[in-house]
Amino acid sequence: MPLPLIGIACGFRHTTPAPYDRDSTLEHGVREQYVDAVVRAGGAPVLLPAVVQEGTLDRIESAIDGLLLPGGDDIAPHHYGQEPHPALDDISPECDDSQLYLTRLILSRKRPKPVLAVCRGAQLLNVAAGGTLLQDIPSQIENPLQHRQVSNTSLASHTIHIRQDTLLHALFATSEIRTNSYHHQAIDRIADGFVVSAETSDGVIEGIERPDAPFVIGLQCHPEALSGLNPTYQELFRRFVNTAATPGS
Ligand code: MN
Repeated sequence: MPLPLIGIACGFRHTTPAPYDRDSTLEHGVREQYVDAVVRAGGAPVLLPAVVQEGTLDRIESAIDGLLLPGGDDIAPHHYGQEPHPALDDISPECDDSQLYLTRLILSRKRPKPVLAVCRGAQLLNVAAGGTLLQDIPSQIENPLQHRQVSNTSLASHTIHIRQDTLLHALFATSEIRTNSYHHQAIDRIADGFVVSAETSDGVIEGIERPDAPFVIGLQCHPEALSGLNPTYQELFRRFVNTAATPGS
């Protein structure tokens, strides 16, 4: 079989400094580390623009073998029935609409194509399936850990506790691992059909997955920033791409 096509959903934002002419200053983009991790795992990455036309998205969804939802802006809270908390950060309506549509399309399949969802992506996966988010960990959780680390994302900071009997546990082959952490939001009410796969000692959900699918995983950390250094994190991409390469898996 040819290399599996892994769609990576692009961010869509203003270049800085942002002048007033919105149309001329918006750019699609994705961090190189996601592309590198997919190529290293044997996948063929294709960058997906934040288009919102349903026919276009239907065609894109039918073409890709797997979907990688990367980190990015906060999700507009109306998508999960809330008004904005004062600490809500930047949002990207086009990315929300485009990625929610694609993700819901994939999740509606009897055997969903593989989805690896990172940071904002994990939150989006949960919202797409009907769950909710904490809009700001420091103001909504008692005694939180530092989840927005100051150091570079190539450094692991807090520990996540991985639940047994999850795909994540099988992949990482451990119950505890230190990860990087660069988020101020988190999954609150988990979507129906999903289970928690990992959490930190303050109770913040760090991983979710859908047990009835071959590979639908959301992680709050940034494995792409660690996968070049740590084979455990690369294993996540390897399995993601391998599952995408296996028809009917
Ligand atoms: Mn964290």
